[in-house]
Amino acid sequence: MQITQSKDLFNKAKNFIPGGVNSPVRAFRAVGGDPIFIKKADGAFIYDEDDNAYIELINSWGPMILGHNHPMIREAVIKAMENGTSFGAPTAREVEIAELIVAMVPSVEKVRMVNSGTEATMSAIRVARGFTGRDKFIKMEGHYHGHGDSFLISAGSGAITMGNPDSPGVTKGTAKDTLLAPYNDLEAIETLVEANKGEIAALILEPVPGNMGLVIPKEGYLQGLRDICDREGIVLIFDEVMTGFRLSKGGAQELFGVTPDMTTLGKIIGGGMPVGAYGGKKEIMEFVSPAGPVYQAGTLSGNPIAMAAGLTMLNYLNDHDEVYTQLNQIGGKIVAGIRSSLEGLGLDYTVNHLGSMYSLFFTNSKVTDFASAKHSDTALFGKYFQSMLRQGVYLAPSQFESLFLSTALSDQLIGKILEANNVALKEIHQ
Ligand code: PMP
Repeated sequence: MQITQSKDLFNKAKNFIPGGVNSPVRAFRAVGGDPIFIKKADGAFIYDEDDNAYIELINSWGPMILGHNHPMIREAVIKAMENGTSFGAPTAREVEIAELIVAMVPSVEKVRMVNSGTEATMSAIRVARGFTGRDKFIKMEGHYHGHGDSFLISAGSGAITMGNPDSPGVTKGTAKDTLLAPYNDLEAIETLVEANKGEIAALILEPVPGNMGLVIPKEGYLQGLRDICDREGIVLIFDEVMTGFRLSKGGAQELFGVTPDMTTLGKIIGGGMPVGAYGGKKEIMEFVSPAGPVYQAGTLSGNPIAMAAGLTMLNYLNDHDEVYTQLNQIGGKIVAGIRSSLEGLGLDYTVNHLGSMYSLFFTNSKVTDFASAKHSDTALFGKYFQSMLRQGVYLAPSQFESLFLSTALSDQLIGKILEANNVALKEIHQ
């Protein structure tokens, strides 16, 4: 495999773009080596500027659940573009997608479209504060909710990978209203709630966190949070930017049967275009301007091209339950194969898995929260990542991420992934 164009582009990019990339984790800092620059993607593959093909296990960090460049979505976008790219005025498609989201996501009775997951979570917290008249909120260690100031405290994803989970530039005044708790620990929440009685507006979490690597909620944990929030008048927010429309049609909330008060969405909802959304109970969403006093707006919100892509994606998922059966089978086969390789090689690493998301953690202990995720040997992960890349399999370039599978992965490709995995595991232990 020859990689020259990507190297040249990265060297040039560093002159004009901070770190050479427009989002930190893309720089491959955590795994060593230079990032590959992508020219195109189709189905289960992405192609770099040197025309090397890689099997995709990230899928644009989640959105491409049906694989890349799906003809149905491509055609919807091209058709929408024939009528103009932005109006800054309401359109029929926005009504249609809102109605569909309300039908698909159990907690959502009203929804507002925005342009990213970051905007969705920032807005949801503001609305929860406006609704309750309280300032503080609880966030889980190692969870990532985008780059809004108040979330960059013990943040996951690229923030852990880059070693700055608490970002400079966030004022002490802002940080003091973010209360931190370990994930999967109801006692810790009870203690925080007791110490801040009547002052907590919201509890936000990734119901199934993917931003410290994939971690599964303990039995009864999500329901326990629901009960505490009900008792204390705290707005429970599920950040389903990753899990929404992925773990099931209605996201983690549908899968686990626990309905939050508000939900934030992103990724799949835009079919690969820049889209986010936040929604929830009517009485809460009625606080959003112009229905209510909490301000939130966007020049490009509900953009007609983005809505065409998102609507096509959601309609397809809503009409095809078999997508989820297929994704679960694909995930099951890959993870069973990895576990069997590990066993064959006498290795005892942890694999966390749910549906079409999984993480292989280079630690022998269980990973149930941020502290245990950090036991992973990140240097070993870097070597594993590079070996997989050389063999034509594209993974998330950090230990602290989940992988996102698509329906484009055939049995033959799964075989290739598992072969590469076995070679990589052997290689890194030589
Ligand atoms: N919330 C979660 C759970 C996420 O995984 C992400 C991004 N990976 C975000 C929010 C932020 O979304 P965006 O990158 O679209 O701003």
